[in-house]
Amino acid sequence: MTIQSIQDVPAIDEEPRFAKDNRGFGTRAVQAGSPHDPVTGAVIAPISLATTYAQTAVGNPIGLYEYSRSSNPNRDNFEKAVAALEGASYALAFSSGSATTATILQSLAAGSHVISISDVYGGTHRYFTKVAAAHGVRVSFTGAIEVDAESMIGPDTKLIWIETPSNPTLSLVNISAIAEIAHQHGILVVVDNTFLSPYIQNPLNHGADIVVHSVTKYINGHSDVLMGVAAFNDSQLNDRLTFLQNAIGAVPSPFDCWLAHRGLKTLHLRAKAATENATAIATVLESSPYVLSVNYPGLNSHPQRKVAVLQHRKGMGGGMVSFRIQGGRRAAERFCQETKIFTLAESLGGIESLCELPAGMTHAGIPVEAREKSGVFDDLIRLSVGIEDTEDLVDDIVGALERVNNYVQGNKA
Ligand SMILES: *Cc1c(COP(=O)(O)O)cnc(C)c1O
Repeated sequence: MTIQSIQDVPAIDEEPRFAKDNRGFGTRAVQAGSPHDPVTGAVIAPISLATTYAQTAVGNPIGLYEYSRSSNPNRDNFEKAVAALEGASYALAFSSGSATTATILQSLAAGSHVISISDVYGGTHRYFTKVAAAHGVRVSFTGAIEVDAESMIGPDTKLIWIETPSNPTLSLVNISAIAEIAHQHGILVVVDNTFLSPYIQNPLNHGADIVVHSVTKYINGHSDVLMGVAAFNDSQLNDRLTFLQNAIGAVPSPFDCWLAHRGLKTLHLRAKAATENATAIATVLESSPYVLSVNYPGLNSHPQRKVAVLQHRKGMGGGMVSFRIQGGRRAAERFCQETKIFTLAESLGGIESLCELPAGMTHAGIPVEAREKSGVFDDLIRLSVGIEDTEDLVDDIVGALERVNNYVQGNKA
């Protein structure tokens, strides 16, 4: 049979690809998808760089594999581990978080409509507004999805896309509330879970249909791999997305899968340490006279703290914090140069602490009015808190705030 379109793909996979694993998170992180090498006994899988695999007769490969774009041992192992961490039956890895988004959007028929929160990741916003339209998919945005979702749903609406916490203001969405509305209309809910990682939040348990990650961030966690992943429970969705993973070919290399899998094995330790550090920093920022306001879902002052308690493991706030500094954009820019441990750089979720100015960096492409409407003011600083020692990080923040204040006062005089 010649495959003409994704509708023609035979349903190969009625059984879940990965059995549910009920062991503790740390056990799953270390053990899932990590078999001993049956030949040598090596406890860590080798990196299988081969692109093609021998067959004994036409259509009869020796093992499970034929060609590495379709599947390979390192990608399989990594996908199995992510599925175990998200409590999913299936996971598929892609060459980046953005490629994951693109592949999901390309699974929709021309004429489909998508609803998205307005402060989605910048690259996702770019795809939704500048690329999706080219294949006939229309996306509309809302800053208050829990209020607006129902009224925005039309006959062609196929997908609701949410990110919780949002970037960089860290506002939360109640996933089960959105899933309930969506499912009444046969609409799928996708949650971008990059900011919390599967250790802190498992969207599928709250009714989401697909959870996506930029693996580049917390899952790999060492700022040295670009990769993405989607996890879900539905076998038809698996047939469709597996077909597109292979047909589009935006797949990660075996080497990157191996590295990201190594990173994933310590995710629970890193996520705990980053949360502890971020909580200490957010608390100090909240009481500082040099700070106007703090966004952190781990603080009781967070406007949606109840959602955090409902959705996040032990109500943990994660490693991302943002705050508005006293003294405007100049003070914010200066702050990012005054820190000694926090490095001024984009991205997040690594072991090292980073700071950035969304208005001038990650969110510079958004028109000022829209940007400020979602809380991204010129004086907003975003921190990705790493796993260095808490005291050193707190001292770095306190010292930088004081030096910025001296600088601002000095300029006034
Ligand atoms: C970084 C990021 C992406 C995009 O992932 P890449 O791996 O950079 O392509 C998507 N969503 C969120 C929330 C991100 O932080």
